[in-house]
Order: sequence, then C-alpha cells, then structure tokens
Amino acid sequence: MLIQSIKGFNDILPDESPKWHFIERTAREVFETYGFREIRIPILEKTALFARSIGETTDIVEKEMYSFVDRGGEQVTIRPEGTASVVRAFVQHNLYSPPGLLKLYYMGPMFRHERPQAGRYRQFYQIGAEAFGIPAPSLDVEIITMLMEFFEKLGVINLALQLNSLGCLDCRPQFKESLRNYLGSCQNKLCTDCQKRLSQNPLRVMDCKNEACRECTSGAPSLIAFLCAPCKDHFQEVQELLGALKMPYQVNIRLVRGLDYYTRTTFEIIAPGLGTQNAVAGGGRYDGLVEELGGPPTPAIGFAIGVERLTSLLDNGGRSFKLPTPQVFIAALGETAESEAFQILYKLRKEGIRAEKDYDNPSLKSQLRKANRSGAPWVIILGEEELQTGRAIIKEMATGHQTQVNLTEVVTWLRDKLT
Ligand code: AMP
Repeated sequence: MLIQSIKGFNDILPDESPKWHFIERTAREVFETYGFREIRIPILEKTALFARSIGETTDIVEKEMYSFVDRGGEQVTIRPEGTASVVRAFVQHNLYSPPGLLKLYYMGPMFRHERPQAGRYRQFYQIGAEAFGIPAPSLDVEIITMLMEFFEKLGVINLALQLNSLGCLDCRPQFKESLRNYLGSCQNKLCTDCQKRLSQNPLRVMDCKNEACRECTSGAPSLIAFLCAPCKDHFQEVQELLGALKMPYQVNIRLVRGLDYYTRTTFEIIAPGLGTQNAVAGGGRYDGLVEELGGPPTPAIGFAIGVERLTSLLDNGGRSFKLPTPQVFIAALGETAESEAFQILYKLRKEGIRAEKDYDNPSLKSQLRKANRSGAPWVIILGEEELQTGRAIIKEMATGHQTQVNLTEVVTWLRDKLT
C-alpha cells in the first residue's frame, strides 16, 4: 500500500519553490530595511508556554495543538504559532537588556489540528515580526506600514487593512461583562462552542462564523465604546498616523483575534480573493505577555503572515515564477567524449554556470533535441572528431551559429559569454 502524506500536511514541490523563495527573500529585504533581525526558534516547546500565552480557553489551546508526552516524560507541543516562542526567547536570553527597542522576525512552519480546507492546513508556514520595548502608537503604525510595504513589493494589491482595539486589563473586563449580559438574552441560539465561550471568553463569540451567532452579535456593544482614556487616545493616534500616511483602513469591531494575549491595537489584512479563509496576515499589541512569561513589563507588538495564502495571491497576480533553465547543455558521443564532458561539466558548475548533460548517451540527434528542450542558450558538442582535433563545437541556440573552441578554453569562453 502506497504511503501518502498526512491530511493537511502539504509538499511544496520544486515548481512552487521559486515563489516561496521570492516571498522569503522579499520579507528579509523589507524587514531588514526596517531594522528587524532574524531569530530562529525551536519547533518543539513545553506545552505550558502556549497554554499560558495563547490562553487556556482559546480554540488553539483547547482543540488544535499537537501535544504529547515525550520519551523523557515531558509534556511538549509542536508550535502552533511563533510569538510565544519569541517572547520566551526574549525573556530567557535577557534580550530586554539593554532596554530599548528590539525588532525580530522569524519564518517557518506552524502546526494546528484544524479541519483542513482550502487555505487552512495542519502544517502551514508563517512569516512573523515582533517589536519589543516601545508603547508608542507610532510603532503600531510602523509595523503595519512595513507589512503593507512587503505586500506591495510582492505585487499583491487589493488588500484591506482592518483595525480594532481590544483595550487593556483596565477596560476590557467591563466590556466582557456587558457583552456577556447582552448575549445572555440569545444564549440558546448560540452554537455549542459559543455557549461555552459566553462564560469563559465572550469576546470570541464576536468572530464566530456561525450564522446564528452572527445574528446574535449584530447589535452587540462595541469594545471601542468601553476603552479607557489611555486606550482611546492610543487608538485615536494610530488612526491619525495611518491617515497622515494616507493608508486606507476600516475599523472592524468584530476583529477580536483568536489569541488571548492581545491588547489595544489589533489588525488583520484581508484579501477578498481568498474566499472564506480570507485573512492573509494578522497581529497586534501584546503589552502584558512578556511579564506574563516572567520578564520585566515590556510593551510589544507583532504580526504573522500566512505564506500558503500569500502564494495563492501571487498566482492571481499573473506573475511567472520560472525555474532557472540551464545555461549550457553538453551533448557528448562516445566513451572518451563522455569523460571529457564530465570534467567540463564539473568546471562549468565550479564557475557558477548552470550546466547539464545527458546521462543516457543516446544518439547525438536525440541529445540535441534534449538540449533544445532544456532551454539552454549554449550547447557544447563533443564527438570523436572534436576530441581528435582538441576543439569542441559550441552552438548558440538562438542563431544556430557554431564556433570551434579549444577544449582547454571552453569554460573561460563560455564564462565570458555568460557574464
Ligand atoms: P494567527 O496566528 O491565527 O493570527 O494567523 C496568522 C495568519 O496565519 C492568518 O492570517 C493566516 O494567513 C495564517 N494561518 C493561520 N492558520 C492557518 C492554517 N491553519 N492554515 C493556513 N494558514 C493559516
């Protein structure tokens, strides 16, 4: 029986790789321009890290984590997201000292046991960024600007920036209480998940996709009306700064995000072309998380981009991501020529030239057909006669023009043509 990959775990095949490289390269370029440096975090962490940071009553922690007891008896989890690990590393390695702004980014696979569907997988890749140490609204806008610039550099357009504020520990409890009271009247209509959420985490009812739940929340109070003065000022300033940069945004009071650690500014980037799973990135402030994980009080903000969803948006852009074709193809006939071809191939590659040859050694005609199909602009032809004269034939495929070049000079001759 053929062993297949696990549901929700995808192969990224070689034809798709150039697109992934383009995305990762662009992220590095844009983020490093903004002063972010890469951090590489482990894929396996102690379960307590995620339970404590993401929140015990979130979907991720309750239903979606790949957790197990390892051979040493430790309760561990394959990471469902990156922020918790970055914050753990920040605290563990005293990255808060010296105090000030610290900007980090990461990229890699995340794992959640969700129901697989288009745009939602069990292993998926995220590119994320986190900035520590500054509470100012201008940092929120800087992060959002960097994210939008990244999409722009990729040529991904028609994205909508949605914004909300989740307040802080001073003002959110009042809102939660008011929401709980409001939703209490239609408790029986809520889905089973939301009935549970109502007592534990009523905010999450706001972003439930269930039709009946949406109806119940349609007239619900807005958190924005409950913000304390400092949170209100913060949110106001974020909007003013976005306005000053002429960056369009919509305030979406349903944007509560699925993770408990968020405070104040939260945002999502929505791509209408993506269907139901239409968020391509999301993030926000988490001013209490560093302290929660044992560090000094440190404001912070970050985001994560879903790379699979982003690759499908690049498809829509009609770009072409061709694999690089070889620059040289060697067609050799006969055993001695084959051995000479092997050495030339080695030397060409050492010079950084993409070179290929035929390994079946069939007729010259069929090798030339292969050379043509390979797309290589230059073909070296080596037969008995060429070996005897010590001169290879080099054919320029575009013109069909052939030149004889000394075997000892073939590599430098081609290098000069190709650079
Ligand atoms: P989150 O960490 O849930 O805030 O998600 C941030 C981004 O990661 C989302 O906007 C998606 O683009 C992407 N994402 C989250 N979960 C999945 C998943 N199961 N499959 C594919 N992409 C995902």
